Amino acid sequence: MSQKPLNIVILGASFSGVTVANNILNRVIEKLKSFEDAPTYQVILISPSTHVYWNICAPRALVSSNLITRDTSFIPIMPTFEEYPSEQFQFIQGTATSVDTSAKEVHISLITPVTTIHTSSAARSSHNVNALSSFPSQRLKGVRKSTGSKGRNICKIPYNALVYATGSSTSSPLLSLHGPHEETISALNSFQAKLKDAGSILIVGGGPSARSPITITLLSGHDRLLPNLPAKISKKAEKKLRALGVNVLHNIRLLAAKTAPDGQKTHCHLNNAVTVTSDLHILATGAVPNTGYFRPAPRGPVPTTGDKNPVLDEKGYITTDTDLRIWGAGDRIFATGDCAAYSRGCLGDVYDAVPVLVTNLTNDLVAYINRLRYQESSLALQRELNALVDARFSPNLRGSWLVPVTRFGGVGMVSGWRVPGWVVYLGKGRGWRLGRARETVGRGVHP
Ligand SMILES: Cc1cc2nc3c(=O)[nH]c(=O)nc-3n(C[C@H](O)[C@H](O)[C@H](O)COP(=O)(O)OP(=O)(O)OC[C@H]3O[C@@H](n4cnc5c(N)ncnc54)[C@H](O)[C@@H]3O)c2cc1C
Repeated sequence: MSQKPLNIVILGASFSGVTVANNILNRVIEKLKSFEDAPTYQVILISPSTHVYWNICAPRALVSSNLITRDTSFIPIMPTFEEYPSEQFQFIQGTATSVDTSAKEVHISLITPVTTIHTSSAARSSHNVNALSSFPSQRLKGVRKSTGSKGRNICKIPYNALVYATGSSTSSPLLSLHGPHEETISALNSFQAKLKDAGSILIVGGGPSARSPITITLLSGHDRLLPNLPAKISKKAEKKLRALGVNVLHNIRLLAAKTAPDGQKTHCHLNNAVTVTSDLHILATGAVPNTGYFRPAPRGPVPTTGDKNPVLDEKGYITTDTDLRIWGAGDRIFATGDCAAYSRGCLGDVYDAVPVLVTNLTNDLVAYINRLRYQESSLALQRELNALVDARFSPNLRGSWLVPVTRFGGVGMVSGWRVPGWVVYLGKGRGWRLGRARETVGRGVHP
C-alpha cells in the first residue's frame, strides 16, 4: 500500500475551517491508522488570511482601536497547530480559484509577492513563493507550482477528502475578511482616520451588525429593524437607537454610492430618488458566499439526490444533504459554515455542524481504507461498512441572538425567550466574547 500521505484539504481557515482541522487532527488521524500499512493522512488548511477576524466585535472594533485592539480582534492561526508534526499538517496562504473534482485537485492562487507555506514544525518561518523550489521536498509533497496568466503563483493540490469552509464576505471591508487580514486592518485604520472629522455617517442595513452608537442615519431597508427577530424586539432596538439620536429610516435602500469630487465624501443615491451626501458610510447589508471557485458551475434550484454536478443554490451557497456531504460532487466532499446553504450565517450553525461533518468524514475515510484492505464483495468489508453510522445536522431553532445596541444594553433572545438589556450586556456587549477568542481558535470550541 502507498506510503504517500493522502491529503484532507480544508478550504477556508476561520471559525469553521480551523475547528474542522483541529477535530480531524485530534480525533480522526489516529483512528485511521487501524492496521499496519494503512495510508497516512495530512491535513492541508488553505486560506488567504493567516488570522481569524473576530468579527463578532466588529461593530465596536471599527469605532476605535483603543476600544478593541487589533491583536485581540485578529487571532493568528498557526500557534494552534504548532504541536502537530509537519507530516500531519500544512497551512498554505492562498485562495482556491477552482476545484477539479475529476482530477481530485484544488487550484490555489498563492498570496504574492511574499507568501508562506507553513508546516507546523516550521510555523515560525516564512518563505517567498519564488523560492518554493528550495523547499525540502517532503514539505511540498503533492504540491505542483506554476505561474498563472497574471504572474500569480498557482499550485495544484491533490485531495483524498475535501471540506469547503470558505464562509461569506460582507459588502463592507470593515465587517469581514476580504483576503489577508492586513487588508481588513488597513480598512479599519482608514475608516477611523476619517471618523475623527466626520460630521455625518450613513449606515445601510438594519441587521445585527448595523448597531453602533456612532450612527447618525440608519437605513433599515425593511419595514423594521432586525427583520429576522420578533417585531417587539425590533421596536425595542429602534427605541434605543432613537434615544441615542440615531435617525432610523425604513423601506429605503441604497442604490449606488459614489465618491464625491472632493474625494472625501460619498454621494449615496437612494431608492426614494434622494441623494444623501455623507462623510462616511458603512454597508451592513448582509453577506455573499465565497464560492467563486465553483464558477461557471450551474446555479439552480436545490438538486435531487443523484444529480451529477455540485450545484450552488440560487444565492450561490453550496447545497448539502443533512449529512453535510455535497450531492453528486464526488466522494468525501463536504461543506460547512457560512458558505453552505444549510447555515443561517451564525456561529451556532458552525459549531453544531462540525461534529456531524467530522463523524461522517471519518466514516468515509474508514470506508475508503477498508475498501483498500478487503475484497469488495467480502463479508469482512460488509461488516466494517455496516458498523459506520452517519450523523445528521439539524439546526438549533432555539439558539441565542444577542444584539448590543447601547454601551450597556441591547436586545436579544435566548432559547426562544426575549431577554432584558443587561443580559445582552453580560452575554455579549461587555466583552464581545473576546475572552473566548484564543480558546475558540486554539481548541475549536464554540465562543
Ligand atoms: C459583523 C459581523 C458580526 C457577527 N456577529 C456574530 C455573532 O455575534 N454571533 C454569531 O453567531 N455570528 C455572528 N456573525 C456571523 C459569524 O461571523 C459567521 O457565522 C462565521 O464567521 C462563519 O464562519 P466560517 O468559518 O464559516 O466563515 P468565515 O468566517 O466567513 O471564514 C471564511 C474563511 O474562508 C476564507 N476564504 C474565502 N474564500 C476562500 C477561497 N476561495 N479559498 C480559501 N479560503 C477562502 C476567508 O478568508 C476566511 O478565512 C457575525 C458576522 C459579521 C459579519
